[in-house]
Amino acid sequence: SIFYINGNLVPAEQAVIPALDRGFLFGDGVYEVIAVIDGLLLEFKRHAARLARSLSEVGIRNPLPRDALLERCRELVRRNGLREGSVYVQVTRGADVKRDFAFPADVEPTVMMYVSEKSLRVNPLAESGVRVASVPDMRWQRRDIKSVSLIAQVLAKQAAQTSGAFEALMVDADGVVTEGASSSALLVDERGRIVVRPLSREILPGCTRAAVLALAARRGVAVEERKFTLDECRRASELVLTSALHFVLPVVELDGQPVGTGRPGPVCHELRQLYLEYALASAL
Ligand code: PLP
Repeated sequence: SIFYINGNLVPAEQAVIPALDRGFLFGDGVYEVIAVIDGLLLEFKRHAARLARSLSEVGIRNPLPRDALLERCRELVRRNGLREGSVYVQVTRGADVKRDFAFPADVEPTVMMYVSEKSLRVNPLAESGVRVASVPDMRWQRRDIKSVSLIAQVLAKQAAQTSGAFEALMVDADGVVTEGASSSALLVDERGRIVVRPLSREILPGCTRAAVLALAARRGVAVEERKFTLDECRRASELVLTSALHFVLPVVELDGQPVGTGRPGPVCHELRQLYLEYALASAL
């Protein structure tokens, strides 16, 4: 496949980054993952805006403002002949000659992009539902930044998968749910209301979550933005995960116990349909 590195399209074997790149040394960078269907980019505006915000919050010059990012993504999708899958975009602070923690004076951000093929529309997990395992949220205090420093999520996902689950549901010290290791979480309560944690520095502002909540509200579904506990998830009618590549997924088991009926629920099913329809109609 063909990668994009610092302005150049290069074959995968030549897609290399200097050993002193600060992304490699410090995890000093941010990223985005954008879904592609029929060669078009889903939720592009939200991803471009979040990338710009992440960069601004960590003081890295944005080398890919909206139009440049769109052009680069489209070019990469076209050159790779990608129909369905994803574009990965990573921007690090760059490579310097010294390993100083503080920002180097003159450093150019490193941009790396590549595409992966993956079936998104058809996903057996949407039919079967997924299992999740609760794990302590061990991340830092700026989880709203989509940072490439992902070791806490790596460990969370590994712990979940070791116990046979698909995703880790991360929980604060007080038993309050934050989000999945690579997904946003919401629940449907016994009265059919969606309960979702308010955005703050404690969770990533999920692009899929934002779209799904807007669609639900437009449908007249009550959306309650408040923190919810692991215990509430155990008693919920439905538990739902959202992410750019999995869209909307039903959770059928939490820590080995069935959630709701133990089968994918109707609200989740409808949200997935609504999301797909909307995301395809607005794809760039
Ligand atoms: N939360 C975390 C921690 C994530 O890593 C992700 C995506 O990878 C999400 C939520 C979902 O965000 P989005 O819907 O923008 O993919």
